[in-house]
Amino acid sequence: MPLPIVAIVGQPNVGKSTLFNRIINERVAIVEDRPGVTRDRNYARASWMGHQFSIIDTGGITWEDSTIDEEIRAQAEIAIEEADVIVMLCDASQQVTSLDERIARLLYRADKPVLLAVNKADNPEQRNDIYDFYSLGLGDPIPVSGAHGTGIGDLLDEVVKNFPADAEKTEEGVISFSVIGRPNVGKSSIVNRLLGEDRVIVANEEGTTRDAIDTPFVKDGVKYRVVDTAGIRRRGKVYEKTEKYSVMRAMSAMERSDVAILVLDASTGIREQDKHVAGYAHEAGLGMIIAVNKWDLPKKDSSSGKDFEAVIREEFSYLDYAPIVFVSAKTGKNIDQLPKMVKEVYENKNQRIQSSVLNDLLLEASRLVPAPMVKGKRLRVYYMTQVKTNPPTFVVFCNDPELMHFSYQRFLINQLRENFDFTGTPIKILPRKRK
Ligand code: GDP
Ligand code: GDP
Repeated sequence: MPLPIVAIVGQPNVGKSTLFNRIINERVAIVEDRPGVTRDRNYARASWMGHQFSIIDTGGITWEDSTIDEEIRAQAEIAIEEADVIVMLCDASQQVTSLDERIARLLYRADKPVLLAVNKADNPEQRNDIYDFYSLGLGDPIPVSGAHGTGIGDLLDEVVKNFPADAEKTEEGVISFSVIGRPNVGKSSIVNRLLGEDRVIVANEEGTTRDAIDTPFVKDGVKYRVVDTAGIRRRGKVYEKTEKYSVMRAMSAMERSDVAILVLDASTGIREQDKHVAGYAHEAGLGMIIAVNKWDLPKKDSSSGKDFEAVIREEFSYLDYAPIVFVSAKTGKNIDQLPKMVKEVYENKNQRIQSSVLNDLLLEASRLVPAPMVKGKRLRVYYMTQVKTNPPTFVVFCNDPELMHFSYQRFLINQLRENFDFTGTPIKILPRKRK
């Protein structure tokens, strides 16, 4: 489901990150509950009045050795290309600055709604003293105070009013997938191979519309959608070289995908940045396929497929469910396998297992391995049922959820994988106390 994207743009110190944090407030508190997860604070999901959306704080994306002018230009570019609605933020305590004017001029190019918010309007007097901002030519300024939390509701009302009509609709019968990975592993080459060069060039010329970003294609009668094709193919711009940006971009693409193809580069081996991207994809609960690209080249340590596979399994132990395929975008090797694999993973991720079958499995499992004793108490497992697909989620009723440690959950997940084909999809277990 494509979530609408909102970007906040503005010169330094106007209060972008304060406003961002206000808008995502609740969400962050929940997300940070989970241990061991690094969060990119420039990109998050938020909701207002039942509308879900993603929000980007473009000011948080920084890179070394660039002037304020370059930063502002890059911010505006990101907003123009990524967002459905742009919020330009100014500072009521400063009135209109020349940087404000420059940003506004950049945003005139955007063929999407730009809202003008004036921050630090902390009291009624300041709220009334914002008429200067009309001179920016971006319509009515909306007074807000990120610090006090006032005016945010009015701003968000305007934001959701401007979402594109089709942005929140799900699309039936189309399998969407993203191709993710650090720069230069061969993502665009793979996508070009998949789509055929001509078709991508066409998509590229269409420019910045959503349709051009996500490219549909049909293979063997199945409808697919490659998410963020434009972003995969663009390169060379300053901001795209920053890791923060590429991670944010990947997260945004993953939000709109059922399945992700994580691309690794056989000629360089696995790097730290590969692990960051993989971690995010795993966290997002996506179906996963690992594609080892450039298999035509001599390997870093002339390793065989088996060796490389072993290294991947070790480095990405949490992705043990992801199938691995060795490909070459250059020669075309195994590229035509990818859509089929995406479809299989998608189906596995959406399958539903009957409760009766699950309980046979549970019985068999407890014969195999008796439920463990924890601090003198024995775990008793009564009943298991699938409450959700995509990804498959199972509630397991027991005498005391505290007794169901990770290792036992792991054991149940392995039993599920042995008995059903859940290749490529994460599985979630939710222990519950039987009432
Ligand atoms: P950014 O650089 O645009 O992300 O700005 P920050 O969110 O870091 O805020 C810059 C400074 O402005 C900080 O000292 C904030 O505490 C302050 N600030 C942010 N919002 C408000 C506001 O609504 N009112 C006032 N008075 N100060 C604010
Ligand atoms: P991206 O940044 O992940 O999109 O990577 P690109 O698709 O731009 O590829 C980066 C570089 O690797 C380019 O020079 C490609 O020509 C090269 N490349 C991509 N795939 C392959 C491959 O399968 N084999 C070889 N030998 N080179 C490749």
